[in-house]
Formats: sequence, structure tokens, C-alpha cells
Amino acid sequence: MNLTIDERRLADEIETLATFSDAEAPAVTRVVFTPTERKARAWVKDRCKSAGLILRDDAIGNTFARWEGTRRNAPAVGTGSHIDAIPNAGKYDGVVGVLGGLEAIRALQRSEFLPKHAIELLIFACEEPTRFGIGCLGSRVLSGTLSPDAAKKLTDSDGRTVDQVRRSAGLEGELEDVKLPSGYYKAFVELHIEQGPILERENKPLGVVENIAAPASLRLTIEGSGGHAGGTLMPDRRDALCAAAELILALEAAAKSSGAIDTVATVGICDVFPGAVNSIPARVRLSADIRDTSLERRDGVMRALDQACEATSGKRKVDVHKELWNADAPAQSSAEIVAALSEACSNHNFPCLRMTSRAYHDSLFMSRLAPVAMLFIPSKNGYSHRPDEYSSPEDIARGALVLAETLAALAK
Ligand SMILES: [Zn+2]
Repeated sequence: MNLTIDERRLADEIETLATFSDAEAPAVTRVVFTPTERKARAWVKDRCKSAGLILRDDAIGNTFARWEGTRRNAPAVGTGSHIDAIPNAGKYDGVVGVLGGLEAIRALQRSEFLPKHAIELLIFACEEPTRFGIGCLGSRVLSGTLSPDAAKKLTDSDGRTVDQVRRSAGLEGELEDVKLPSGYYKAFVELHIEQGPILERENKPLGVVENIAAPASLRLTIEGSGGHAGGTLMPDRRDALCAAAELILALEAAAKSSGAIDTVATVGICDVFPGAVNSIPARVRLSADIRDTSLERRDGVMRALDQACEATSGKRKVDVHKELWNADAPAQSSAEIVAALSEACSNHNFPCLRMTSRAYHDSLFMSRLAPVAMLFIPSKNGYSHRPDEYSSPEDIARGALVLAETLAALAK
């Protein structure tokens, strides 16, 4: 099979897609279901149509562009990513996987490869949490990770529901029909920029992702007792901030002693009430974000935090209330797809690094539905979610080539 990537055209398409933006260039702002995002999606769909792909939108706005295989009822091989962008973002996050995926399909068509399994390009809806406060909404509902009822309860900052917003963007049908049946995909592979510095630092042009870390996030409210900073003596205090400090350090200790470098835990928010220099903190709100590639280890850290809450509340006579916001399970890549990606890399003598994705992606949720893996290309300086995010045309084309060969291996 003689595969060639049209590097120039792919680079031009990435530049053109970046012009669909609500921010001044080079920044890209493209929030889901805005007129700008709808126009960008229509433009990408038009490119897919020109490649002869069959298009379908589901009720939440995921777009499927299908190249039919010779075995009609065989499960499809999927690839794709997202085109929505957070405010003041760059040109490459998500886009490389969508336009690179399209170019991979066109490369296979030019080589006269005939897939047995359909190859389907997926353009996910609402990967970024900007509008509804939750990331990967399209793939969560598609994979059955989030129920239609839970999705319907989400609102944007104007108080509009997902149903209202999607219908006014012209999407018909019911959210109940979005979930794909298991077995729909034989495999799903996502090409993405690394969004970190490792490939550049290691001087490797490609990264094969073996696992995707996933976060659990919690909110802790610690209720103590306030009072005058002079009048209340130390033995009588129930200082909520001192209790919070113990919990923060206990969480850090639990993450550090998990036995794996992949365990990370962060308290990023600490609100102190009443927040006055001469007043004992009566109430503290903390956020906690715990991530790992192993669910078992992450749950271990969460149990350690539970124990610390109990111990601190007894010792300091404070009430600790814990609220779990979200707990996605991490995903392991499929050994078969990792092997296909690695083989495609070695066929071209492209050095590749086996790595962990520390950010999460639509592939995390697709893993509930199908075997998945991801392919990373370098991000200059590790920058992402900012206007100077950059990946070179050569690196993008190399990623598209390896993706094309991998899709061929999976769909033959
Ligand atoms: Zn992304």
C-alpha cells in the first residue's frame, strides 16, 4: 500500500478552520452551538462530503462521516476528535484529529485501499466544558456514560438547557437515541496533540498512548466555630481552617505514598468564611481533584481522604461534609490498537514513545463502548489552550500517515 499525506492541503485546512473564530487571530474561540461553531462544523462536513463520506448528525450534535466497507454489517473502525475550542485557545487541539483523520481517509482512498469494515470519522459535540460545565458531553452520552436525563439537567450560563440550545442550533431527534449499541465500533483511534512537553523533550515525533488518566473531583465543607481572634482561647477553638490544613496535607501524603508517579492530588480552591484577620475561620470550602491511571489506586487515595476527614473531625470537633462531583474511571488502551500504531511507526522508522495521557479526551468515554487508543504528536513548548499552541505541518502529516496505516490494519 502506497500511502501519501497531502501535507500542504492538510495545513491549509487547519488554517482555514482557524478563521471560524470569535476571537482575533491567532487566538481561536469556538464554543459549542454558537453560530461560529455551527459554521465551522458545516465547513468540515462539506470537506467530508467532497471525500464521498456519508454524513449523519445525532441529536446532541456528534457528526459521523462514514466511508462504507465491503462487509456491510461489520462493526466500524472509528477515528476523530473535536472542533470546539475554549475561549482564547489555539488552532490544533481537537482539530488535528478531525482534519488529520479526514486526510488519513483520503490517503487510503487515493491508495485504492478497500476497507472491509467501514471507517468512520467522528466529530464530537461539546468536548470542552466551556458551555455546560462538563467536558466530553457528546462522547459521554454517545457511550452511555452520562444518561440522557442527566444531560437534560445541564444548563449554560444563561440558564438554557442542552435541549433548548441544541434544538435552536437545528438538531432534531431525542437524546435517548444518541447512545450507540455496544459492538458498533471494532476499534476507535484518536489522533491528538500532546498538550504537554514530553515528546519534544524526548525528541520523539510520535507518542502511542497506553492509558488515559481520569479525575475524581470533590468538594469538602468544613464547619467549625467562629469567634474573636483575641477573646477565644486556644483550648476552646474549633478552627475550620486549621482542620482544612490537616486535610490538605493528608491528601498530599496519600497521593505521594500511593506507590506510583501517576497519582496526583490537588486542592485548588480554599474559601474561608468569614475571611477577616481578627476572626477565627468558622467555615472552609475546599475542592479536591484526584487523578490516576489506576482506578484502584485513585480509590485508595479517596479512602485515605475519608479517613483523614473522620480523624480530623473527631480530633478538632468540626463537621466535615464531602460531596462527590464527578468520578470518571481511567482507561487502558487496547493492546491490539497499540500494536497496530507501533507497527505503523516502525514501518516508517518513526521513533515513538509509549506514554500516558494526563489530560482526558473523548477516547476516555469511547473506551466504555469500544477498544481505544490514542496517537500523540508534539506540542511546541508543551503549550495548549493558548493562542501560541503549535504543531508543525510535518509532525501533523506524520501523525496522519501513521493513523491512516493503523486504520487500514484495523479495517482490512
Ligand atoms: Zn482536545
